[in-house]
Amino acid sequence: MAGPRFEPRPDSFEVERYLYEMKIPDETLRGLMERVKGEIELGLARDTRGRSSLRMLPTFVRSTPDGSEKGEFLALDLGGSTFRIMRVTVAQEGSTQIRMEDRVYNMPEAVLTGIASQLFDHVAECLADFMDQLKIKEKKLPLGFTFSFPCEHNKMDESILLRWSKRYNVEDVVGENVVQLLRDAIERRGDYDIDVVAVVNDTVGTMMTCGYDDHRCEIGLIVGTGTNACYMEDLRNIDLVEGDEGRMCINMEWGALGEDGSLDDLRTEFDIEVDQSSINPGQQLFEKMISGMYIGEIVRLVLVKMTNQGLLFDGKLSPELLTRGKFPAKFVYAIDVSSKNGGCQKAHEILTEELGVHATNDDCAAVQRICNIVSGRSAHLVAAALGAIITRLRENRAAKKIQTAIGVDGTVYKSHQLYSRRLQRVLRRLVPESRVHFLLSECGSSKGSAMVTAVARRRVEQRHV
Ligand code: BGC
Ligand code: MG
Repeated sequence: MAGPRFEPRPDSFEVERYLYEMKIPDETLRGLMERVKGEIELGLARDTRGRSSLRMLPTFVRSTPDGSEKGEFLALDLGGSTFRIMRVTVAQEGSTQIRMEDRVYNMPEAVLTGIASQLFDHVAECLADFMDQLKIKEKKLPLGFTFSFPCEHNKMDESILLRWSKRYNVEDVVGENVVQLLRDAIERRGDYDIDVVAVVNDTVGTMMTCGYDDHRCEIGLIVGTGTNACYMEDLRNIDLVEGDEGRMCINMEWGALGEDGSLDDLRTEFDIEVDQSSINPGQQLFEKMISGMYIGEIVRLVLVKMTNQGLLFDGKLSPELLTRGKFPAKFVYAIDVSSKNGGCQKAHEILTEELGVHATNDDCAAVQRICNIVSGRSAHLVAAALGAIITRLRENRAAKKIQTAIGVDGTVYKSHQLYSRRLQRVLRRLVPESRVHFLLSECGSSKGSAMVTAVARRRVEQRHV
C-alpha cells in the first residue's frame, strides 16, 4: 500500500532560497556603482584605458540639436531587435516639425552569421526598396546610420567595428569601416546614390533624439536586445581627443563590464551557463545579466533546475522547456505584472500553451516570482551603472546636486510596465542628490542618426555662410 506521497511545494520560500543571490542589496549596488566610476576614469585616460573593461569610445558628436536644423534625411538602424529604415523630414514653419516614415525589414538568420558582402548587399537592397516606395531614388539624400555595436571613430563618417555582439557574427567586418562597406554595396548595385554622413551608436542616437525635445538630455540608455549607455563628457577629460573646451559624447559600451572578472561575485550559475552557451562566451558579461536577449534564457534555466529537483511542474520537464531560446524576454514581461493585472493567469497561459508543462497555481505563482526577481535584478544593475554616470556628471560640474535627463530606448525598458519604475526607485536611493528625468521617444535610436546628420549638415552650412 502506498503511503502518503511527499510533495515538495514550490512555495515562495523555495524560490527565495533559489534566487537569493539575484536579490542584490543596495550596499552591493553602491559598491558596483563605485566600481563602474573607477572603470570610467581608467577608460578615459590614455595610459590606463587598456585596463578598463569599459571601452569609453569618443563619438565625435559634440553638440546636441539646437532646433535650427532642417532638410530631408534617411536613417538606417541596424543591430537591435528590428532592422529599420526611415525618412525624417525636418521642416521649419514657425516652429520645428519632424515627420517620419519608416519601414521594418527582415534580417534573415543566415545573414547574421554570414559574410560581409551578404549583409551589406541585403541592407542596400532594402534601402533600394524603401526609396522605390517613397519615390526618392533619384535624389542623393544624406543618410545617418545607427549601428549598434562597438566602433572606433576618427571622424563621424568612419566607423571601425571592434567586435560583434548580440545575434550578429558576420565574417570579415571586424576591423573594417562599416561606412565603406555600405558605400561599396550601394555602388555594386548602381541604381541609386546616397551620402553617408554619420554613423552613431544607438545610445547616441537616442540621446540626440531626446535632446531635440529636452536640451538637458546628456545621457543615452538602451535596454533592449543588448544594453549600453553614452553620456556627454568634458573634453578636457578625454585623453584620446585633442582640445579642452566643450564636451563630447562617449559611448561607454558598458555591456562589456565584468570581462576582467570584476562581476564574478555577482554572477550566478545561471549567468555562467547563459554565457557559455552564447555565441560570444566570456564577452558582454554585464549585458548577459540584463538585456532582452538573455533574461528569458536565465528564467528558463532556473525553471529547468527547479523542475529537475521536483520543485516545479510535478518534476516533469517538456521538450520546449529544455530548448534554448524557448522562453523569450517577452514572456518575462508578460508574466512579471502584478497578480491583480493577471500575472498568474498569464503565467498559466504561457506555461501550458507555449511550454507544454502542467502548471498548478503554486507553480504559476513561483514562476511569476522568478520573472519578478530576474527582471528586477536587471533593472537594479542598470540603476547602479547609471548612478555612476550621474555621479560623474555631478563631479564634472563640481556641484552638490544635479538635475539631468536621460533618453531611453529599447524593448525591455519600453514594453515592461514595472521595469522603469523599479529602475527609477533604486536610482533615487543610490544617488539621492540627483533629480533625473527619463525621456522616452518613438524610434529614438533610429531617428537619432538622422538628427546627428542634420546637426552635422547645419554645422557645415553655417561654416559656409
Ligand atoms: C552593443 C552596443 C549597443 C547595445 C544596445 C551592445 O551589444 O555592444 O554597441 O549600444 O548592444 O543595442
Ligand atoms: Mg535599437
